[in-house]
Amino acid sequence: MNRATPITAIYPGSFDPLTRGHEDIARRSLRIADRLLVAVAYTATHVKKGLFSVEERLELITEVFRDEPRVEAVSFQGLLVDFARQRDAHVVIRGLRAVSDFEYELQMAQMNQKLWDEIETVFLVPEGEYSFLSSSLVREVASLNGDVGPFVSPPVLAAVNRKFSSR
Ligand code: ADP
Repeated sequence: MNRATPITAIYPGSFDPLTRGHEDIARRSLRIADRLLVAVAYTATHVKKGLFSVEERLELITEVFRDEPRVEAVSFQGLLVDFARQRDAHVVIRGLRAVSDFEYELQMAQMNQKLWDEIETVFLVPEGEYSFLSSSLVREVASLNGDVGPFVSPPVLAAVNRKFSSR
């Protein structure tokens, strides 16, 4: 397919930490976009206590996508649409795991549309085995000494293990 203008997509989230589910969505998105900004949100609307600092999350994303030059790890504060406009990214990627994700995602996509009418949200579905996976579950299992190896990439696993062994 020949496109006149390369498509830059933005995949926003907390990524605390990046899971194999996130990674699956990010790699799938490169089938429809030329470049992907994996964007760690500094200020979530709802305050969540983080396990990793934003800088640590960015380092892990960079490490996991070392093989993929089309992916860039970035962070942003404030409105997603403002950041997307600055970076000339007109496509937002979000992952849909289950029906439970849908209502919130629909509201957010429609709000973003209202805030900037040049943005389109694209929902991608992960491989079935990742449907149950979330960063919060990974944090919880790891905090209870469970093995999260199947759910995160090796650099993330090493970082999670370091976090909990230093506590
Ligand atoms: P948030 O803090 O908004 O929940 P996350 O960092 O958890 O953000 O997730 C960012 C995006 O990735 C969301 O669209 C979320 O639905 C999606 N996502 C998270 N985990 C998975 C997964 N296992 N499979 C597919 N999509 C996922």
